[in-house]
Amino acid sequence: MSVFSNQNPEQEQDLINALPRLVTDADGCVLYANDAFRILSGRETPIQKGEKLLDLLHFEDLDDILHQAWMGDDTEGTLANVFAGEHHVSFIGAVRPVPLHFDWVEMVDGRRFLIASFIGEHHIAKKEMFPDIEDDGNENIFSPESGPEKDVEYHDMDDGSLNHFLDMSHEVLCTLDEDCVFKWMNDTFCAALKTDPTVLGGKTFVDLAHPDEKSMVRQTLSDLYHDMDGQMVSFECRMLASDGNVLSVEWRFKKAGEEIYCVGQDVTEIKRHENALRQQQDKLLEAEAIGRMGHWHWRLGEDHFEWSDEIYRIFGQDKDAFIPSIDTVNTMVYRRDAGRIMQVFQRAMIENKDYELDFRINRPSGAVCYVRCQGRCETDMDGDVIGLYGIMQDITQDTLREQDLRDAKDAAERAYAAKSRFLANMSHELRTPLNAIIGFSEMIQNQLLGPIGTERYLEYIGGIRESGEHLLDLISDILDMSKIEAGKYDLDLERFSIAKVIRMAVHMMEGRAVDASIKMIVLIDDEDVQVVADRRAIMQIMLNLLSNAVKFSPNGGNITISCKNSGKNLDIAVADNGMGIPAHKLQAIMKPFEQVSSEYTRDHEGSGLGLAITKELVEMHGGKIALESEIDKGTTVSIRLPLQAALKGQKVA
Ligand code: ADP
Repeated sequence: MSVFSNQNPEQEQDLINALPRLVTDADGCVLYANDAFRILSGRETPIQKGEKLLDLLHFEDLDDILHQAWMGDDTEGTLANVFAGEHHVSFIGAVRPVPLHFDWVEMVDGRRFLIASFIGEHHIAKKEMFPDIEDDGNENIFSPESGPEKDVEYHDMDDGSLNHFLDMSHEVLCTLDEDCVFKWMNDTFCAALKTDPTVLGGKTFVDLAHPDEKSMVRQTLSDLYHDMDGQMVSFECRMLASDGNVLSVEWRFKKAGEEIYCVGQDVTEIKRHENALRQQQDKLLEAEAIGRMGHWHWRLGEDHFEWSDEIYRIFGQDKDAFIPSIDTVNTMVYRRDAGRIMQVFQRAMIENKDYELDFRINRPSGAVCYVRCQGRCETDMDGDVIGLYGIMQDITQDTLREQDLRDAKDAAERAYAAKSRFLANMSHELRTPLNAIIGFSEMIQNQLLGPIGTERYLEYIGGIRESGEHLLDLISDILDMSKIEAGKYDLDLERFSIAKVIRMAVHMMEGRAVDASIKMIVLIDDEDVQVVADRRAIMQIMLNLLSNAVKFSPNGGNITISCKNSGKNLDIAVADNGMGIPAHKLQAIMKPFEQVSSEYTRDHEGSGLGLAITKELVEMHGGKIALESEIDKGTTVSIRLPLQAALKGQKVA
């Protein structure tokens, strides 16, 4: 019996002769040697059955042990352990040893065989071992053209010898009778299904098939046995191993004589890898769907693109009906964007560079979709570009949101500008009547045109004047802020003494300070220093800071005004020991209309514009402002002003 019996003899010979191989029995008597082995050994004549292995070659390391074993009675036990593996052997007449691989194969009936094989370039090995042997002129003696020499001696191999080969096969082999009962199986079958012939006695192939596949297997094998003599059938089915594992096996069956011959390949691992790969792919597609992003690939010269499922969804196309190509995609892309896409792709290919571009498409539904495409070039071993690949992402939502935000920002800016214009106009309109109210009430208060009869009226007219002045202050602040925001506040630069302006501001604030018993200390390190700045603006800055310091200091507090000349800048600071500003408000307090919550400011009037105007004026001079404060400890506002205002394009003599 032979599994090769139905193959053509040439194939069989090629297969057997592919590697030099020799088989001996447990006593080292040759049972079989293929022609490649004969050639490797340097023998002219065929190696005869029954020859002693040790007459053909000697082991560099093991000869003594083997002699003892094969001449004495120790043919088992130690020998098997010592012998398996690779050994360097010298053939008779060879000048150099060659490595041979040895395996012991033990049969179910206890018989043991030794298999020697050479894995490597055996024609080269042969030349090295037998340099004196004339080359037959054919470089590769194993090439198909030269054909293996016929080894007529060993075609009559007995079943036992063939079984060695069958057991060495990686394939799962078995034979079945008419009822699918196992008749024979190789070692690989037993190892794969974790069983042995004793357990399988009387069992059928169907018994080992997965329950879901039993009926298919039963029917197919029955048809094969009864109606398909000599034909081959193949199918994949799951088999149950005795340890509970399920194996996936690709089977081929053939009926010959009274038996069914079965050859199976265990593809469980391959299936597992396939499954794992499929799961990874599913996850990738899922992630792409969540991110509205798909991947694509285009090989140079090909008309079609490869798209992942998500790109079909982005383009609103049916995967089975739409073939993505340059033409079909171009019909969907906005005409103005199509040319740009080609340009970007061409440049990427020429320069072998990564690329990114956004374009718009019209979906079949009519909806516009914004797509972002990012990609790289695919190159061959020489670095030449052979394709493009990358991702496409649906950025419609983000793009529309960005557009909305941009529109909202533009609208807000327009509204803000309109408000500033309105406030500027209104403030101007309000100032004129207010000045009249203040002027006339001052006149009445001073009774310039004659005495007022009733004393009470004098008190009231004083109130009217104070309120008017307060209102005028507020309106002036609003007007200044509006002008600054509208970019219409121009600095009027001149050279002047900063010390004088600071002292003047302190002097103007003195009345309110004295009323609250607040002491003001002025420390100026350089009385003569001159600055180039807008005098009115600097005065406004100082008054804002001083009035805040007075306003937010307790009765009897201290305010220190310092001015240091660093040669390039002036460092001016106004420090008080008042109520302070909470840390979380420090950031925002310099923005227009920001005030600390009523808890801290309820006793104080103000528009919330003073610091904002101060900051803008300082920055217009090219300076900087900083605020340090601690609740109940005090506040210090520091200003760094360049000695010469760092204005763009503005020069002062
Ligand atoms: P206004 O003083 O008119 O309210 P400002 O812009 O000058 O406006 O000040 C904004 C807010 O900053 C004030 O309302 C106050 O809460 C806080 N602030 C400013 N300066 C001081 C200071 N020296 N001490 C404590 N709080 C201050």
